[in-house]
Amino acid sequence: MSTIFIDRDGVINENRSDYVKNWSEFRFLPDACEAIGKLTQAGHRIVICTNQAGIARGSISVETVEDIHQRMLADIAKVGGRVEKVYYCPHSKDEHCFCRKPHPGMLFRARDELGLDMRNAVFIGDSITDVRAALAASIRPILVLTGLGVEQLRDHYHEANGPFLITLNLKHAVEVILQGLHLRSEAQHALGYTYSSLFNISRYIDTETMLSRQLVLSTEL
Ligand SMILES: [Mg+2]
Ligand SMILES: [Zn+2]
Repeated sequence: MSTIFIDRDGVINENRSDYVKNWSEFRFLPDACEAIGKLTQAGHRIVICTNQAGIARGSISVETVEDIHQRMLADIAKVGGRVEKVYYCPHSKDEHCFCRKPHPGMLFRARDELGLDMRNAVFIGDSITDVRAALAASIRPILVLTGLGVEQLRDHYHEANGPFLITLNLKHAVEVILQGLHLRSEAQHALGYTYSSLFNISRYIDTETMLSRQLVLSTEL
């Protein structure tokens, strides 16, 4: 049993460049709820950590953010998923808080408030800032290729100051976690880790969408 931290936008629901401002703009990504259900059934503790700078910008109120989270958790619960808490950073970048990812403040706060075991903890996100937050908290990062993941990997991979695992989406990340494959990384070099995770993707080539095919092709170049 591990602690699984999950980013929200681009991992659980579709990313919007102008923020998800109300429940009608919230769209679950395919299989995301079910994936969280599987983690719960396997005994993992799940916490969501999300930057919501739209609050600081005045695009969305704290009340609306909490309303969205309540409805999101209710839908996840319908398929057996239990999320212990959703932490969000309401600040803008220039407020220089410790909670806005890539800072690990939300992870540490969750650890202290919920008494989480961080030893085999994982953070699943679609941004290099999620990867950096995980590394800053000494837990294992998984970058998904939904949301901003592909462009983040292409343009920002070098900003990660340590190894991270790559999976197609949350469902694939959960499969990797349930098989214990994310634990194998300890002695691996960053590049080796990335490659081994990409090679794992090839197992999904027949069952997943075009995305996986393009990904495998592009990594062979
Ligand atoms: Mg995200
Ligand atoms: Zn903050």
